[in-house]
Formats: sequence, C-alpha cells, structure tokens
Amino acid sequence: MNKKIRKEDALYYHSKGRPGKIQVIPTKETSTQRDLSLAYSPGVAEPCLEIADNVENAYQYTAKGNLVAVISNGTAVLGLGDIGPEASKPVMEGKGLLFKIYADIDVFDIELNTKDVDEFVRTVKILEPTFGGVNLEDIKAPECFEIEARLKKELNIPVMHDDQHGTAIISAAAMLNALKLVNKDINDIRIVVSGAGASAVSCTKLYLSLGANPKNIAMFDTKGHIHNGRTDLSDMKKQFATDNAYESLEEAMVGADLFLGLSTADIVSKDMVKSMAKDPIVLAMANPNPEIPYPDAVEAREDVIMATGRSDYPNQVNNVLGFPYIFRGALDVRATEINEEMKLAAVHALADLATKPVPDIVNLAYNETNIVFGKNYIIPKPVDPRLLTTVAPAVAKAAIETGVARKVITDWDAYEQELSS
Ligand code: NAP
Ligand code: MG
Repeated sequence: MNKKIRKEDALYYHSKGRPGKIQVIPTKETSTQRDLSLAYSPGVAEPCLEIADNVENAYQYTAKGNLVAVISNGTAVLGLGDIGPEASKPVMEGKGLLFKIYADIDVFDIELNTKDVDEFVRTVKILEPTFGGVNLEDIKAPECFEIEARLKKELNIPVMHDDQHGTAIISAAAMLNALKLVNKDINDIRIVVSGAGASAVSCTKLYLSLGANPKNIAMFDTKGHIHNGRTDLSDMKKQFATDNAYESLEEAMVGADLFLGLSTADIVSKDMVKSMAKDPIVLAMANPNPEIPYPDAVEAREDVIMATGRSDYPNQVNNVLGFPYIFRGALDVRATEINEEMKLAAVHALADLATKPVPDIVNLAYNETNIVFGKNYIIPKPVDPRLLTTVAPAVAKAAIETGVARKVITDWDAYEQELSS
C-alpha cells in the first residue's frame, strides 16, 4: 500500500458516517403530496405506459440512459486476487464514485456470487433493461474474455471490461506519445511483453491494430516466451506465439524498443534496461510495484521513457483517464456497443491532449509551474478538466461514424458546452 495511506485511515474513510462511498439521490422535487403523486402512484403509470408502448422511451423517462452497472464477481480484485464478491464491493463503489465525479455518470455496483461463465452472462443479460451500459470489472482471465465477448454480442448496450480495454487505451496513448518523442514508428519497433493475462492480451491486440508488427512482438508468461514449440498454450496465448523462441526475458530485451509489463514486480533488471535499443520505452505497469522500480530504470538509462501504474512517479497509466469519458461519449449517443473505432478514438484524443499546453489548474494540482509535453509528461493528468470535453466527443463521433449510435449529435460546440457545465 502507498506509504502515505495508513490502514486505519482507509478503514475510517470507508466506515465513517453512513458506511460505504455512494448513495442514491432523487433528481426531482419531492416536497409536496402532488410531487409524490407524480413521482409514484398514480402519476408514474403514465411513463410506464409510454415505455410499454416503446421501450426506447425508457431513455426519456427513466435514469437508464445515464446509469452504468459496474459488475464484478470478485475473482481478480486489484492485485489482491480472488477475494470474493463482497470483498470487491469497496472497489466497485469506488469505481461508481469516479464515474460520478469525472463524468456525472450514475452507477449501481453489482457483485455477483458466481464463477460460472454461463450464469454470469445470463445474469447480466437479464439486468440489461435497467442500464445504459455495463462496465465489467476485476474478473479473472480467462473467464473475463468469454464473458465480455458473449455479453457484447448479446446485449444492445455498451459493454466494456475495463481491466482489459481501459489499460490498453491509456497505455496506447502513452506509447504513441513516447514514440513521437523518440521519432520511432510503431510499425518498426521491437516489443517485449511480460504477461499474457487480461490486460497484456488486450494491450497487445490494440497495439497491433495501431500498426505494430506481430513478428516484432515477444510475449512472456510465467513459463517463459510464448512460441509455437509450446504445447501448453491456451487459444488466447496461441495468437501471440512466434516461430522463433527466446531462452529468456533477458535475451528478448536485448535491442528491444518497448517493454510492456503487465505481470509482476521486479522481474526486469537494470542490466536488461541497459541492453535495450536507443531511446527505450518502458511501460512497467504491474501494480502496486512495477516490473522494475522507477528509480532503477531511470538510473540505468538517461534516455529511457518510463511509465508505471503509480501516482508517485511521472506518467501514471491510470484507467480513470479513460472509462468515465468513454462511457460518457457512448451513453450520449446511445451507442449499442463500444467498438474498436471508439477505443482508437479515445487513444488518439488522449494522446493529442497531452501534446497541448497544460491549463493552470493542472499545474496547480501538482504543485508545478510548467508541465509540458515531454519524457515526464506523455499522458494527461487525471485532474485535467479537458478530458471530458475531448475524449467523450471523440468517442461519440466515432460511434456515429461507425453506425452504432442510436442518437446523433450535430452541434458539437453545444455538446461540449453541455459537458463542461
Ligand atoms: P492476469 O490476468 O492475472 O495476468 C497476469 C499475467 O502475468 C499472466 O499471464 C501470468 O502468467 C503473467 N505473469 C505473472 N508472473 C510472471 C512472471 N514472473 N513473468 C512473466 N509473466 C508473469 O492479470 P492482469 O489483470 O492482466 O494484470 C497483470 C498486472 O498488471 C497486475 O499487476 C495488475 O495490477 C497490472 N495492471 C496495471 C494496470 C495499470 O497500471 N493501469 C492495469 C491493469 C493491470 P501465466 O499466464 O503463466 O499465469
Ligand atoms: Mg480493475
């Protein structure tokens, strides 16, 4: 745990006052008998009938369109592992809190007591009428792949497993900007991936769709390099198997341009970073401790560009840069899904934003005077108010352009103004 956060402080924070972190607040007046007759019987029957007539009217008369289900079964919670559905609830409530403060999206957190894929899928499917979108969270691999794929196919509202795609989107923005700084092309770079789980697979797939060459990617799991000579590979891992076989991570790192770490702490040495190509990029994102400590990597190489999952070093790859705004954009055009184009739109919007001059409010929040695009600032900061007005519209536009929007926005200036008000 972060040194500055004490156990007793965290427990007191969660338990003080009304336990937990979120509550439900009415959005309509409720002070008179008439208000209550409108809110409930008999008035409530009118919207019921309108919706019975056409279910799309649920978006007009209920909270559905701004309501996201954050759903977990507690099988891969933070770095804590399979701690059960109840124990995952503080995380899911926390996610609800972040959705609300960054994008004014309301959340019901739902913790399911099942590890069975069919039961999970069936349960979420029958919850669909309530929600405008579904954020799957902290579900272990490989079940998370099938659960997401099936729900995407079967549901008519956006579904995203944030542990897979959030990380992919934010790290891809960081990677594109790092490549810009060192003047390398994604098509040419050699990439070493440590980890072959939910986040590593999704990141690698996104990097491939951004132009990375599959022949230049070496992926590792706990058994070593993933190559065609191995007989123990899942279908998911087989996609990344290569004909050549590296003996070790150490060997693969020699001359590599990018290290992508989504595995575990302290498996990369200073010497391994020293052996990488000129201007190496190290995205070491194992939480809470990266594959190589930040100070070690920058000590090993002056020319390294480094990002981690931590807030106490530069370039934090933090999912909060993505999910609130991706869902905001998707909900605002009533998208039926979050497709690849929408994710890529978020990547480019995030990457572009980091290259723009930083507003004072961001400098102030970090006690800095001059945060500028460069090695120590390759992705936007979570407090940047422009995230909402750049990422959400980019995602909404991509949804419209790819034909998955059920509602079209035409006045983008008005939309941005509405977002920032
Ligand atoms: P996961 O699905 O459990 O996958 C972990 C993967 O790492 C597995 O493929 C595992 O290999 C591999 N692995 C473990 N130890 C290894 C080692 N010593 N050498 C090589 N590979 C090793 O977990 P995940 O959700 O993808 O998350 C992985 C890590 O990334 C966690 O530390 C998580 O906190 C972090 N993460 C960070 C961010 C962020 O910073 N924004 C976002 C997502 C995840 P096997 O397949 O052989 O078991
Ligand atoms: Mg998570």
